[in-house]
Amino acid sequence: MYPAVGWVSSRHSNRGHSSDLIGIPVREVCPRSAKGVSFVRRLFTGTTLLIIALVVGIPFLLSRQIPARFFPGVTVVRLYLHQENKVVHMQLEDYLVGVVGAEMPAEFPPDALKAQAVAARTYVLKRINAAGVDNTLHAGADVCDDHRHGQAWLSREGLKKRWGTVRYYSYYYKVKKAVDETRGQVLVYQGELIEPAYHASCGGRTEDSEDVWKYQVPYLKSVTCPYDADPNPVQTVSYSYEQVDQALGTSLTAIPASGQEKITADFKLVEKTGTGRPKVLLIGNRQFPAVAVRDQLGLRSTRFTWNIEGDTVTFTTTGYGHGVGLCQYGAKGLADHGYDYRIILGHYYSNAEIIDTQKSK
Ligand SMILES: [Zn+2]
Ligand SMILES: [Zn+2]
Repeated sequence: MYPAVGWVSSRHSNRGHSSDLIGIPVREVCPRSAKGVSFVRRLFTGTTLLIIALVVGIPFLLSRQIPARFFPGVTVVRLYLHQENKVVHMQLEDYLVGVVGAEMPAEFPPDALKAQAVAARTYVLKRINAAGVDNTLHAGADVCDDHRHGQAWLSREGLKKRWGTVRYYSYYYKVKKAVDETRGQVLVYQGELIEPAYHASCGGRTEDSEDVWKYQVPYLKSVTCPYDADPNPVQTVSYSYEQVDQALGTSLTAIPASGQEKITADFKLVEKTGTGRPKVLLIGNRQFPAVAVRDQLGLRSTRFTWNIEGDTVTFTTTGYGHGVGLCQYGAKGLADHGYDYRIILGHYYSNAEIIDTQKSK
């Protein structure tokens, strides 16, 4: 369009000047100025059209190719900070560096960090997209920085404290690279953003969601975790009956310990999950979901056994976290064995797929 218009206008100007009305061939007198005017006009017309094309065209093209809410720099996360008791706004990708740095050791291989970045991005976008639904914990925020309410987040100062000044820059850029290289990528199931549950280590096999949260989710199914790299998966912790009573509201201390048979009956396994973890326990005379026992007693996972001596119960836990979805130490193990983050995510979120929100509409 631009060269065609320029060419037409130059023909007009030349025609005017080349007509020899007073006997002097104009071409001989002012060929330079005629060419100069023509050039300036062409330049002016061309530049004007180019500016119009850019002003009108670029936003049009962008709006067609990239949904505004996913456009880099436009997606804003409203983050509630617990310690400061306030909501701050920040760009999505900045927020994600703080999440990946808080949720996963930066020593982990790049593909584990990328898997974490995609899961974290999916988590927060699901909440941002549900902006019409109020955050019941923190009104006016999409997410907070407490892992117990969702996913952890650390400021740059927090990351510096965690990593130390010497390693801060290399770790920061390693984590940022994982976020940047997966920019726009999220997990979906049947076109909807998934609920990307993740945990530290599963102890060899992840859990079906319905065994932990009572609802069945097609992409949160139990899978084996072949290379779970948790260096200390098995740990023990002991509680007195008094502590158990305080945490669970039971009355074990009120029951006279009249012999071994009586004592072992204080903790009974009522039901197991599909993977063999305790699901429901009878403690004293009350039933508890294993998830509640874990929460109230602060156990590392629901993959636990127990042993009672006197009025002390000792739990032996394997793994860390609820065991559903992505296993972070498992992701590390898979990445160490050469698996790409896409394969890692496909393994733990079976049936879900990764889409690039910056490429799709
Ligand atoms: Zn919170
Ligand atoms: Zn695992």
